[in-house]
Amino acid sequence: MLIVKKFGGSSVADKEKIYHVAQRCIEDYQKGNEVVVVLSAMGKTTDKLIELAKEMAPNPSKRELDMLLATGEQTSVACMAMAMGALGVPCVSLNAFQVAMHTTSTYGSARFKRIDSQRIRHELDSKKIVIVTGFQGMNKYDDVTTLGRGGSDTTAVALAAALKADACEIYTDVEGIYTGDPRVVPNAKKLKEITYDEMLELATLGAKVLHNRSVEVAKKYGVQLVVRSSLNTAEGTIVKEEVDVESMLISGVAVDKNTARIAVIGVKDVPGTAFKIFNLLGKHNINVDIIIQSIGREGTKDISFTVARDDVSEVIALLEENKSRITAQRIEKDETVAKVSVVGAGMQSNPGVAAKMFEAIYNAGINIRMIATSEIRVTVLLDEADADNAMRAVHDRFIEY
Ligand code: ADP
Ligand code: ASP
Ligand code: MG
Repeated sequence: MLIVKKFGGSSVADKEKIYHVAQRCIEDYQKGNEVVVVLSAMGKTTDKLIELAKEMAPNPSKRELDMLLATGEQTSVACMAMAMGALGVPCVSLNAFQVAMHTTSTYGSARFKRIDSQRIRHELDSKKIVIVTGFQGMNKYDDVTTLGRGGSDTTAVALAAALKADACEIYTDVEGIYTGDPRVVPNAKKLKEITYDEMLELATLGAKVLHNRSVEVAKKYGVQLVVRSSLNTAEGTIVKEEVDVESMLISGVAVDKNTARIAVIGVKDVPGTAFKIFNLLGKHNINVDIIIQSIGREGTKDISFTVARDDVSEVIALLEENKSRITAQRIEKDETVAKVSVVGAGMQSNPGVAAKMFEAIYNAGINIRMIATSEIRVTVLLDEADADNAMRAVHDRFIEY
């Protein structure tokens, strides 16, 4: 069997943990499997590198930021190879260039385009464990790119697809995927399995247990994933196309605090205004989530929407620059909001999910600011200070014990 095993930052945070992970990989190798290991940066390394960059310059170049961030993963693969070497197992560490993992050119949020499997194949054929940097890639200018926070999951899945691996295992600091973040919702339940579509929504809406792109890639190439603990051997959660058990109404709740509300006030109530605003943002690769347009009064209206907090300064700058073209009187921002969502394929055939959610939030005495729905999710925007309470209230309303 060819197994791709990915370990997150907390699983390789120090020497002891690296040796522990090395042992687990060696066990699989000694059973006769081919083993490819994908690693994140050790512990909080990426956060620290981002802080370092901010110390260096208030607005560091995105290219140089990726150059810096990619060093985190390079450190962990080299250390892992040293540990496995000390344990007497043949192995080799490789970065994105050595593998040739080609991505789009957008620094900070690059996407895989093509991965060469030749070099890894060659190393596996010579009976080595291959240890690959997560999170990084190379673009057409031969520059280093990164995939966005949490992107090592996507490296693992993309490699599993490229190598046609028999298994793709994501090891982390919880025992699997739960009905809510177990650190916020103490009575969250571990799921045996979950569909790609549900996991994609959860990941996109803030459940950072998997990078959302990793789920997209897994669905596209039919890579079945298992998410499990790097600390014990408890059964994890399987992510796949369809689940065997009759789908639960709700598979989980998620909270996303990396969100901000932008309001474009007093734009002309004429055709084309929304197009101008969102076309402008789209051209600059800004992801917009919930959108609300107020009812027009006296020829003007307001358009509000949410974006990731990292994008706020760019969005404000863009809108201010184009203020007269989009006919705005004023632009406002609010960075003290959060999104809480419920996700479940079961809601397609069960009306009333939204009402149940709003009731739980009302009972908790929390005010809702904006609402968005899709076939399999309901999202509300509320004050960040209320987010964890809202998440617990909504979770307990849906998940039975
Ligand atoms: P890693 O470093 O291994 O990639 P992450 O910190 O990126 O780990 O993701 C694991 C974390 O995701 C958990 O510690 C947990 O707090 C959080 N999390 C959020 N939502 C969920 C969920 N629904 N199920 C499990 N974990 C979740
Ligand atoms: N080290 C990167 C991060 O912290 C990638 C990852 O952990 O998946 O975001
Ligand atoms: Mg992660």
